[in-house]
Amino acid sequence: MKEKNTAQTKSAKALLDFIDRSPTPFHAVEEMGRTLADAGFARLEEAEVWKLKKNGKYFVVRNDSSMIVFSVGRQAPASAGFKIAGAHTDSPNLRLKPKPAFDKCGYRQLGVEVYGGALLGTWTDRDLSLAGRVILRTKQGLPRSRLIKIDRTILRIPQLAIHLNRDVNDKGLVLNKQTHLPPILGLADAKLPTEQALASLVAGEAKCKASEILGLELSLFDLQKSAVGGLDREFLFAPRLDNLASCHAAVSALLSAEKLDAATRVLAFYDNEEVGSESAQGAGSPFLKDTLERISLAFDGSRESFMRASARSIFLSLDMAHAVHPNYAERHEQNHQPAINGGPVIKTHSGQRYATEGMSAGFFEQLCERAEVPVQKFVMRSDLQCGSTIGPITAAELGMRTADAGSPMLSMHSVREMAGVSDHDYMIRVLREYFKP
Ligand code: ZN
Repeated sequence: MKEKNTAQTKSAKALLDFIDRSPTPFHAVEEMGRTLADAGFARLEEAEVWKLKKNGKYFVVRNDSSMIVFSVGRQAPASAGFKIAGAHTDSPNLRLKPKPAFDKCGYRQLGVEVYGGALLGTWTDRDLSLAGRVILRTKQGLPRSRLIKIDRTILRIPQLAIHLNRDVNDKGLVLNKQTHLPPILGLADAKLPTEQALASLVAGEAKCKASEILGLELSLFDLQKSAVGGLDREFLFAPRLDNLASCHAAVSALLSAEKLDAATRVLAFYDNEEVGSESAQGAGSPFLKDTLERISLAFDGSRESFMRASARSIFLSLDMAHAVHPNYAERHEQNHQPAINGGPVIKTHSGQRYATEGMSAGFFEQLCERAEVPVQKFVMRSDLQCGSTIGPITAAELGMRTADAGSPMLSMHSVREMAGVSDHDYMIRVLREYFKP
C-alpha cells in the first residue's frame, strides 16, 4: 500500500485531532483560540478600546462560538486591502431542550430539538454523549459559562427492530422529530428523578454545584474517534468535516504563511450557518464588517478609507462541496462531478446561492494553479434545489468580491462524514498561496 506523503498525513492527523476535541462550536472556538494564542495572537475584547499595531496578531470572540482572527498588514487596508477567508463552526446535530428530562416506559430520556439539516437516521444506534456550554449563576451581572464534554457513552437512540417495522428497507427510515428522536439516558429510578440525575452528571463534569446551574446549552455527539481509511489511506472518516475541515485549513494556512504581508489577513469563523446565519454571532450579523472597520480606523479615521479598503478586498467563503457519489451519480450534473482528492471545488449558482462570479472564480482558480493544486467546479443540476453558504450573506453585507469554494466530501450532514486526505492538504496549500505577500 502507498503511504501518503508526510505533509498530507500530518495535516490529516491534525485535522482529525481538532475535530475530536471540538464536538460543538464552543469547543472549536476554544481550540482555535488556544492554537492562535500559542502562536502569539492576542485576544481582544469587543467592549474595550483596541490599540492595534502594524504586523500585530489578534483574535476576537463572540458568544464563545464565533471568532474573527487577523494579522495586521504593513500597509493601511485602504491601500493594500483585506485578504479574508471565512467558514462556519457549527454542524447539524441534536440539542437538548431547556427542560429535557422525562421518564417513559421505565426509561430515562432526554427531549431534543433538531439543529440544522441533520441526516437524522445516522444518529440512531450510535454511541452518543453530551457536550456544550453550562450556564452558571453569578452574584451580579451576566451569568458565566463553562464548557463540558462528557467522554463516555451515556446516550443512545435505538432503532426499532425490523420485525416491528417490516417495510423500513423499502420505504426508508421515517423519523418523527418529536417522538422518535429522544435518546435513552438510562433506566428510570424513582429515588433519583431524571432531572436531578442529569443535573448531578453535568455538575460533576462542570465541577460546580448542581444549584449553581441556570441552564444547559448541550448537544449530542458521537464518541467514535475520527479515522483515516480506505485501501490507500486516502479517506477521512469523521464527524463535522462540514465545516471544521475548512476552519482547520484556514488556521493552518495563516499560521504557516510567510510573515509580514502588506495586506491585512483575516479569518472569520461563524456559528449558526446551518440554521440560516441570522443571529448576533452569525454571518448575517455586523461582526465582520465592524471588525474590519475598526482595523481600518486604527490606520486613519476616515470612512472613505474603510470603503477603499473594502473595494480592494476579497472574501473566500470556504465550505465543503458535494463529491460525486458512485451509487447516485445521476444526482450530479454530468460535467460537474467533483472527485475526492481531486482538489478544491469552485461552486457557482446563477441564482446566487453561491456568491462566486466570473472574476472571483478566476482568482481562485489562479491561486490553485500557482499552488500547483488541481481544481474542480461544481454547479447543481438545474432540476435540483441548491444549498447555500455564508458566501452570499457576507457578500451582501460587505459588498466585497467573494468566491465560494471547498473540499469535496460525501455523507454531508451525517453524524459521520467522509472526505479526502489529499484534499485537506490541497486546501491548506491554496490558502497559503492566498496569504502570500
Ligand atoms: Zn457547511
